[in-house]
Amino acid sequence: MSRFAETQNTVDVVIVGGGPVGLLLTYQLARFGCRVSIIEQDDKTQSSYGRASTMWPRTIELLDQLDLAEPLIQAGMITRSGLHFHEGRRVKGGLMYGNRMDKLGDTFFKFALHLRQRLTEEIFADAASKEIGSTHMMLHRMQGFTIDQNEDSHPVTVQIKDLNTEEVVDIKCKYLIGADGGKSTVRKLANISFEGEHTQGRWIRMDARVTTDMPNPRCLNSIDSASHGQILWCPIDNGLTRIGYVFSGSLIEKYGGVEGVTQEVAMVEAKQALHPFKLEFLSVDWFTIYGIGQRIAGTFCANDRVFLAGDAGHTHSSGSAQGLNTDLAWKLALRVRGLAKKALLDSYDAERRQVVQTVIDNDKVISTLISGHYPPRFQGRSEPTRELLTEWFNDLNMQHFTLGLGISYPLSLLNVTIADPSVATIDPGERGPDVYLTSLGTGDPLRLQKILSNRAKFSIVVFSGNTEYTRLALVDLRTTITALDSFVNVFPAQIFQWFTIPATFGNGGQEILGCHPFGKVYLDTEMKAHEMYGVDIRRGAVIVFRPDGWIGTVVPLSGVGQLNHYFDAILNRR
Ligand SMILES: Cc1cc2nc3c(=O)[nH]c(=O)nc-3n(C[C@H](O)[C@H](O)[C@H](O)COP(=O)(O)OP(=O)(O)OC[C@H]3O[C@@H](n4cnc5c(N)ncnc54)[C@H](O)[C@@H]3O)c2cc1C
Repeated sequence: MSRFAETQNTVDVVIVGGGPVGLLLTYQLARFGCRVSIIEQDDKTQSSYGRASTMWPRTIELLDQLDLAEPLIQAGMITRSGLHFHEGRRVKGGLMYGNRMDKLGDTFFKFALHLRQRLTEEIFADAASKEIGSTHMMLHRMQGFTIDQNEDSHPVTVQIKDLNTEEVVDIKCKYLIGADGGKSTVRKLANISFEGEHTQGRWIRMDARVTTDMPNPRCLNSIDSASHGQILWCPIDNGLTRIGYVFSGSLIEKYGGVEGVTQEVAMVEAKQALHPFKLEFLSVDWFTIYGIGQRIAGTFCANDRVFLAGDAGHTHSSGSAQGLNTDLAWKLALRVRGLAKKALLDSYDAERRQVVQTVIDNDKVISTLISGHYPPRFQGRSEPTRELLTEWFNDLNMQHFTLGLGISYPLSLLNVTIADPSVATIDPGERGPDVYLTSLGTGDPLRLQKILSNRAKFSIVVFSGNTEYTRLALVDLRTTITALDSFVNVFPAQIFQWFTIPATFGNGGQEILGCHPFGKVYLDTEMKAHEMYGVDIRRGAVIVFRPDGWIGTVVPLSGVGQLNHYFDAILNRR
């Protein structure tokens, strides 16, 4: 009998695809209290390295809030800067977003993290198996599913074939996620369109152990080459280097078509591309020649039961990639556990779609310029494309968007201006910036984002200001919360985590506040957090962080009763 039939024929969520996105979703859903099964058709222990290799700051922040950044950093390679070369000389610009990432502002992850996709997958699989006691079911293929609209509890039945035994088993679930890559079977079976283009251009990517006389070869460098486009030079884990370059139509012709592009050809052309720098290969770990599909699914959710994540929902080049999916799991988990309304889950498509569309629009510009052509946006300009690429990357908004730090969501049910918008300068829908706080007692510095760990809970953070000014308001707040008919008694307590941040020094929470603290107390002794979030220390504020670290809403200390409105739109009452 198939291992599935023995163990888990009814679960909350079935995930198809054991790539990075499927594994990360599995880990998150298990961490958030769901029963989940993940199936993978390949024997991943046999698969080669290569594919995705870089994570930008916001991705690392989000993974840190899931306790995953540390193992990835331990396994990977960090770059903080990059040089750009033209004809053997350093020139301005390049692929590195702003050349020096220490200029990046309010993130503590002022670096890019590089490791090969298989290592990332192993770390996610390991984390998931610690949560669910087993890892993905390899050599199992999803071959169909049905949805019984008349069944409330587990309406989706997924047919899974054990590729060892050819046996087909059914698993029943509440939700199905297609994380099964760009050619997604789930997407096709759900009749979801996948509109977009496939570029004519081809790119080489290779991971190799090399020697070179290029200056600073362990930086994230780039080279502007007349024959091979913009060349990517990226140090990755275990002393390897990822090299990427454009394989033009004339090169394809030279080798008699894409089929003629062997590893030896990729090495010969890489040497040409790097000229006048020298390049010697000690070994090649992986190489590929590929084209780019810039496509987006017509919907990321079908029949309210089937979701698409990762490449199954959208594809584009790696140049603009932001990495991984952390916006579905918490919404789905709260819905599975009966805590959230459907509107919360509906926001997955709405919020993700507008970000993905911008990624794809940017990608069209970047990949065209990297190939040495002029995209419509730059038609009529006569400068070399490398200068236009530099202009594009120097645009701060563009940089911040691609690095993820500048992504914000529009006002919606989840991102709401409830009260006076002058309570704080941070706005609903913005990423919550990171800042050091001080722990009581030891005085250890602690990062706010670390404290707001993602456990699929909303964080209610009382920025209590300087208590010399706010003590009365805090006592009133405590009385409202204890007396209440406010959201605290109306919605399930397990959905919230509470914190208080006084802008003062002190030796005890109660002592500082003059009333029982709201959750754990961390001190903002230098008032940096209040300043960064734009909270007046004489007035204080209550800031609601969504589980994924974006700002949900902001209210004054006296306005906490209004949070009923906010949570009523997205959560079920007790
Ligand atoms: C050759 C190549 C080079 C790349 N290089 C880069 C790069 O340099 N940088 C970068 O950022 N990105 C790169 N990418 C893209 C990156 O690898 C993807 O964005 C990423 O892997 C997407 O993750 P995913 O989990 O959504 O899908 P995938 O990693 O594609 O995983 C999908 C999984 O689903 C499984 N599956 C499919 N159908 C079924 C089924 N019916 N039943 C069970 N399992 C199924 C597949 O076997 C696969 O393991 C590259 C991709 C390719 C193909």
